[in-house]
Amino acid sequence: MGSNQPFTDDVVRVQVAIRGAVQGVGFRPFVYRLAQELGLCGWVNNSAAGVLAEAEGAAPTVQAFVRRLEADRPEISIIQSLEATFLDPIGYAGFEIRESTGGEKRALVMPDLATCPACVAEIFDPGNRRYRYPFTNCTNCGPRFSIIAALPYDRAATTMHRFAMCEACAHEYQDPSDRRFHAQPNACPACGPQLALWNGNGREIARQHDALVAAAEAIRAGKVVAVKGLGGFHLMVDARNECAVRELRTRKRREEKPFALMAPSFELALTCCSASDIERRLLRSPECPIVLLPRLPGATGLAAAVAPGNPTLGVMLPGTPLHHLLLRELGFPVVATSGNLSEEPICTDEHEAVERLRGIADVFLVHDRPILRHVDDSVVREVCGRELVLRRARGFAPLPIQLDNVLTPVLALGGHQKNTIAAAVDQQVFISQHIGDLENEGSLQAFKSVIGAFKSLYDFTPEAIACDVHPDYLSTQYAEKTGLPLVKVQHHHAHILSCMAENHLRPPVLGIAWDGSGLGSDGTVWGGEMLHVTSAGFRRVAHMRPFLLPGNAKAVREPRRVALAILYEIFSDKAFTLDLPVVRAFTATELGPLQTMLRQRLNTPTTTSAGRIFDAFASLLNLRQVASFEGQAAMELEFALAGTKDDNSYPYVIRDESDALWMDWEPVVRAVMTEPVSDPGIVSARFHNTLVDMAVEVAKRMGEKNVVLSGGCFQNRYLTERMVSRLRASGYRPYWHQRVPPNDGGLALGQIMAAQLQGEMRKD
Ligand SMILES: [Zn+2]
Ligand SMILES: [Zn+2]
Ligand SMILES: [Zn+2]
Repeated sequence: MGSNQPFTDDVVRVQVAIRGAVQGVGFRPFVYRLAQELGLCGWVNNSAAGVLAEAEGAAPTVQAFVRRLEADRPEISIIQSLEATFLDPIGYAGFEIRESTGGEKRALVMPDLATCPACVAEIFDPGNRRYRYPFTNCTNCGPRFSIIAALPYDRAATTMHRFAMCEACAHEYQDPSDRRFHAQPNACPACGPQLALWNGNGREIARQHDALVAAAEAIRAGKVVAVKGLGGFHLMVDARNECAVRELRTRKRREEKPFALMAPSFELALTCCSASDIERRLLRSPECPIVLLPRLPGATGLAAAVAPGNPTLGVMLPGTPLHHLLLRELGFPVVATSGNLSEEPICTDEHEAVERLRGIADVFLVHDRPILRHVDDSVVREVCGRELVLRRARGFAPLPIQLDNVLTPVLALGGHQKNTIAAAVDQQVFISQHIGDLENEGSLQAFKSVIGAFKSLYDFTPEAIACDVHPDYLSTQYAEKTGLPLVKVQHHHAHILSCMAENHLRPPVLGIAWDGSGLGSDGTVWGGEMLHVTSAGFRRVAHMRPFLLPGNAKAVREPRRVALAILYEIFSDKAFTLDLPVVRAFTATELGPLQTMLRQRLNTPTTTSAGRIFDAFASLLNLRQVASFEGQAAMELEFALAGTKDDNSYPYVIRDESDALWMDWEPVVRAVMTEPVSDPGIVSARFHNTLVDMAVEVAKRMGEKNVVLSGGCFQNRYLTERMVSRLRASGYRPYWHQRVPPNDGGLALGQIMAAQLQGEMRKD
């Protein structure tokens, strides 16, 4: 996939934050020598948070620098986390080791880290006292964020406080030369947490290694096993077993949304997927995320129901000793999906899991190390030759995003879907783990407890609260009850500010915010917006031509309704008699009421949503008429162009209307209707290309050099890569997301930035 355009800015700057055992081990001189060897300019220093470095030079050399930081590091150093952000060059001369930054030493809560190679070796060594022990960890790996109740990070302040260390463990813990010196969750089979297998009613049926073997047997037999991991439960089934995967779908009420896979090893992961250098690094990184990888054509052995019709697979490797042992025992990939029912938060407690996952899991592989807070699997993909984090959770949360200025303490509460919260502390923004859609009591409780945890972990007292403008969002309603000064931020403005923040950009910029929906300043549903963002706020300079959403939420679930509404805009009542798949997708008794709805605008809001336009075209192409999850139709439109190389576009019109420029999709609809192409991949490519053409045309009329891409539509790799290369070809500087999701998971960061800019304006 991808538009096959090279992503070579001439010169780039990368900022790298490296955390782990990287201080006092010759890491700074190593970075210095590496930069010298590659001829890069910049600096390296030690900060409270670890080693921070910036390097500037030719883009491929800078990429090599990032790769070699990890590959060639000093032998005794351990990298627990490496986050690289590509930024504009600022013209460094030479490379220097800078003085360590002083300032407040703020203890950083580390994320949960994948098991290190030394610990993996121990659990598979029959001669080691931790042979087959599923809770093995050391200073360089293991649980952190999910078990820490308070700072300072001591065993007493973790959920490990209930386990008294045995003599051997205590000895390691006190020995400065030991790998487990002050490893707070240190444990062994004699003194630490234990594994058990419970039946569907929560009755113990096996213990310790027998429990693991029995769980593996259950998976082999096609059963659904709930496994208590690091930040919550997974549901696992044999990924090769079509019946088992289908059964899990039925029980979890998840019809088609792709499942993630856990592969026993890196080598086995690569038997079903291909992976670039960046993707290979991500798979094996301490963050251990789900990496979206292109499926190898002709790869067999996986059940079709794992990710139906999807040319990519979400793959992760085992991240804990328990998962290593289980997957080694199995020797084949398993589906590993979060242990919850549809959109509820994942289960973290085994007793609660037995209740909530009753009827879903056949058996429960559990342990007695409590999980203090839920942390889902993170999701990443490669876009434009860089990492793009789509869900920031295990392995990343709660590491901060580093900014250039000291910030006023603001707490941002995010949006409604894919909710996260964020706190501005000093020069950093701490973004919470993925909380989820604030739709049910469970996720609202999780939201409240994350806010509480943030305040206590960071000893943080906000001066103001930032939230969305939508009065119905539970996050907005919560903000209103705090009694603190509120900064309400328009949804798409927040998206653009979020992307600006992680790219260290100052206004003015032209922002392209394309997503499903957010409340606009005029009371309609926005989502296909182009905003001129200045320090004073924003002006809506262009948007998709408005259309109607008959049935509102129902139209989100039924792309055919959106397609019909778009046809209704063009053809009025004639739309209902057109000989098209979308019209035939309705029964006559369904069409009548829809016509009335559209005519009388009953429960039919106006929208400019780009996400819905993707849905409409998926319906016009008869790829998807009714969706089983949000974003499915748009995803399938992206899938349709896999492997297609078509550089053409459809005609379009930019209309100069009284409120803004309108990006008019009507010629695109007409072209798709009158020039039917048998290959939906070609139509999909041309559709994507046309949207990009329209945005570039608006950018040309605006003349603002910096163009910022945000919103859920930019999870789409083809769209993002095409937009970036086309903007560059026209002389613009495009910016997109890297460490923070383009979807609503990034809103909280943007809301923080809006509050900062408002504060600056008041001071002037
Ligand atoms: Zn370790
Ligand atoms: Zn012990
Ligand atoms: Zn959004």
